[in-house]
Order: sequence, then C-alpha cells, then structure tokens
Amino acid sequence: MDRVDLHVHTLASDGAYSPSEVVREAVAKGLVAIAITDHDTTAGVDEALEAAKGTDLEVVPGIELSAELGSEEVHILGYYLDHHDQALQQKLDVLRRARHDRARKMVERLAALGMPLQWEQVAAIAADSSAFGRPHIAQALQQKGYVDSTGEAFARYIGLGGPAHVSRYKLTPVAAVEIISKAKGLSVLAHPWGQEHVLPELVEAGLVGLEAYYGGYSIEQRETLLQLAHKYNLVATGGSDFHGYAGGISTGVGDVPVPAEWVRRLSMLATNRGHEGSSHH
Ligand code: AMP
Ligand code: ZN
Ligand code: FE
Ligand code: FE
Repeated sequence: MDRVDLHVHTLASDGAYSPSEVVREAVAKGLVAIAITDHDTTAGVDEALEAAKGTDLEVVPGIELSAELGSEEVHILGYYLDHHDQALQQKLDVLRRARHDRARKMVERLAALGMPLQWEQVAAIAADSSAFGRPHIAQALQQKGYVDSTGEAFARYIGLGGPAHVSRYKLTPVAAVEIISKAKGLSVLAHPWGQEHVLPELVEAGLVGLEAYYGGYSIEQRETLLQLAHKYNLVATGGSDFHGYAGGISTGVGDVPVPAEWVRRLSMLATNRGHEGSSHH
C-alpha cells in the first residue's frame, strides 16, 4: 500500500530534525507524500520542497495552527496553502511574536518557582526556530536537571493549568480555518479525538478534513473517526505528528500508515479550488 504522512514537525518549530533530514527519512521509508506542518510557521516548507527534487516523494506545503476554544486546545492543519502569501505571513508573524513573549513569561515564572533558566539557553535550543514552543522550555528544564524528562516538565510545570503555564495568542479554531482559507489552503482538524463538538462550526467555516489516522489512536478510535468523517463529508487524513525528540510524541516519520488515497482526495480538492495542487516529480 502506498503510504503518506501528513503531519510532520521540523526544526522550523519544535521538531528535532531539519526539513531535509525529514525528507531523506521519508524517501528511505518509501513514502509517496509528506506534509511539513510546523506550528505557526511555514519556514521549513521550501527546504523540504528543494530536498525532495528528483525523488518520488511529494512534499505538501502545510502548517499547524494552535487555536483555543474555552480552555480546550484545538489544532488546525492547513494543506496546499500558498505559503508565500503576504497576508498569511503577516498573521503568522503576529502568532510567533506572541510565542516569543509567552516563552519569556514562562521563563520568568519558572525563575519565581526557583528554577532559573538563561534565556540564551532556551533560544539556543530553539535555534533557527522563530516559533518558540513549550518543548524548547521543557528541554531547557531537563538540561538543567530540574526535571528528568520533557514529559515531567509538562506534567509538573508547563502543561495546561501548571504553575508556569502561560496561554498562547488567543486564536479561535474558526479564525484559524479562515487564515488557511485566505491563503488558499485546506483545513483539517488535527488529533480530533474528543473534539467532535467543534465540527459543526468548523465545517461551516470551511473545514475539509479530520485526522483519523494518528499515532496513539486505537483501531476503534480510528473507526469512530472514519465514521465521523463520513457523517460530515470530510476527508480522513492522518500522520505521525513526528517531532523526533525523546519523551515527547515519538512516533517516527511514516510510522502511522495512512493510505495514499487520502492525499489524492485532498490534492483533488486543492485542484478543484483552482490551486496549483501538488508538485509532482
Ligand atoms: P506549544 O505549541 O508551545 O503550546 O507546545 C505544544 C507542543 O508541546 C505539542 O505540539 C507537542 O509537541 C508538545 N507537547 C504537548 N504535551 C506534551 C507532553 N505532555 N510531553 C511532551 N511534549 C508535549
Ligand atoms: Zn509540537
Ligand atoms: Fe497538534
Ligand atoms: Fe503536531
């Protein structure tokens, strides 16, 4: 079966590998397509497209936007978006500035809790990423020996409700779908388990898919999500949510088998919307 992986992070956000390394891995595993879906940035997309030239791998330009509904985190994946769109980049810039300010605030809170970190240390871990994320802070805490694992950092300090947790920029899921639509992208609800209740509103706003294949989901969960996709006439996509660091989400690239049929359906939707669709090699 041809396989794809439509949910992959890189060094451009909080992943541990460069876009080129991720592409190399996907090619080695014989995947037919991957989507680069970094948090609030498309900075890794062009490198991945370049690295895939001359291979049989299709790289789908993508993004994962972090939104909130009440106290619930809702992540919206965007595919086949025009990642050079100026309005899109301006909006993403706002989101990333907020991530930077938030990371600084979390470092302040940690200091007040008796766990001082050097900002330079956090910045070095984030390296080329302009999309600061809690995993960068978790790694800094681990390096300093305040926690034994990044998971412990989330559980004790920086997870939702934790003493050093600071909220992100307030973006509603509907606003996230609209940002993606304006950049001619297709929106998909990421890791949607337990979030069916947001579907009617999101479908109304233009959502085209939901992530039914996901690392950590059982066969039963997947079946339920496939039925849900059918009910709302949504494309069932999926991916590994590969980050590449130990202690976090550790599924490898392509390790969640997603039938290639779904990327074909997405790419057909993209083409029908008058987009260029994918770049086949
Ligand atoms: P942020 O975008 O800063 O809110 O951070 C969210 C990211 O943190 C997710 O995309 C995951 O990569 C990671 N993450 C979330 N929960 C955990 C956890 N319990 N342990 C390790 N990593 C986590
Ligand atoms: Zn992440
Ligand atoms: Fe996510
Ligand atoms: Fe993700």
